[in-house]
Amino acid sequence: MASDSVTLGMPTLGADRDLLLAAPRGYCAGVDRAVITVEKALDLYGAPVYVRKQIVHNKHVVQTLEDRGAVFVEELDEVPAGSTVVFSAHGVSPAVHDDAQARGLKTIDATCPLVTKVHHEARRFAREDYRILLIGHAGHEEVEGTSGEAPEAITLVETVADVEALSFPAGTKLSWLSQTTLSVDETMDIVDALRDKFPQLEDPPSDDICYATQNRQLAVKEISEGSDLMIVVGSANSSNSVRLVEVALEAGAKASYRIDDVSEMREEWLEGVEKVGVTSGASVPEELVEGVLSYLNDRGFPTATAVHTAEESLIFALPPELRRDLRKAGQPV
Ligand code: SF4
Repeated sequence: MASDSVTLGMPTLGADRDLLLAAPRGYCAGVDRAVITVEKALDLYGAPVYVRKQIVHNKHVVQTLEDRGAVFVEELDEVPAGSTVVFSAHGVSPAVHDDAQARGLKTIDATCPLVTKVHHEARRFAREDYRILLIGHAGHEEVEGTSGEAPEAITLVETVADVEALSFPAGTKLSWLSQTTLSVDETMDIVDALRDKFPQLEDPPSDDICYATQNRQLAVKEISEGSDLMIVVGSANSSNSVRLVEVALEAGAKASYRIDDVSEMREEWLEGVEKVGVTSGASVPEELVEGVLSYLNDRGFPTATAVHTAEESLIFALPPELRRDLRKAGQPV
């Protein structure tokens, strides 16, 4: 762990008070790529550019892109034939790709490459006749997309309690996969319960919970112990943000709240509070965190000290179909 001071907001003297800032926090490589994809598509093709589902689960990001001409839709039947549609970072099932083709839509797939990796694993396990236990949350877009790769082979498991109800004929080959944005500890509890019940269970070749989710959870653990309050900036439908609140509480934070932005901060949360930690989910622009830090500085908390638990340098190339069109137009990719 390393720490340094960051100059965000005007420091105010607060002798016994401490303000810690998790690092890493905020944008991951997959979110960055997805947002830039929509921005570049708007520049290249002009508005409107349609986006199926929220490009990333953050209402501020969605609003900003809407202001620039992106049109967010739930399903492809809302997109006029011949239009350009971007698929979100959470991924889509093959049926959605087929539907887009049948409707004559031009598609740009902004699925995070780490989600695409899980899709590949699902297809491979299904091809090799495995029954796949997908650990994740029902109804989440990523789970719908991954399940769609091999619907007849996949069973969703949400909790340890779900494991008890599972049964398979003797000799069934079993493997597990997971949503990329789960709590690492909770997922391992479910895997342990699965392995206890099904000793033949095979692991995926690598972790599905992505580096960004893991790093943000580790950083939150580091600053939550002994803290009176952990603020997590992120939207309610952001799985990784919601998990950060849970991880903070498990790691010892006395209280933790998720907020979309500083307008949701409450004065009463700060009553009797000395040590505050702040972090943000993987789809959160940094200016939203800066707003929270300024709010705390204005109320007597000192300049935030960043606590570094990992360095991140991963960058993903833009989707190939967009790079091709940018090159054709003589624009940088
Ligand atoms: S949270 Fe992980 S899987 Fe999701 S977009 Fe970011 S890097 Fe990709």
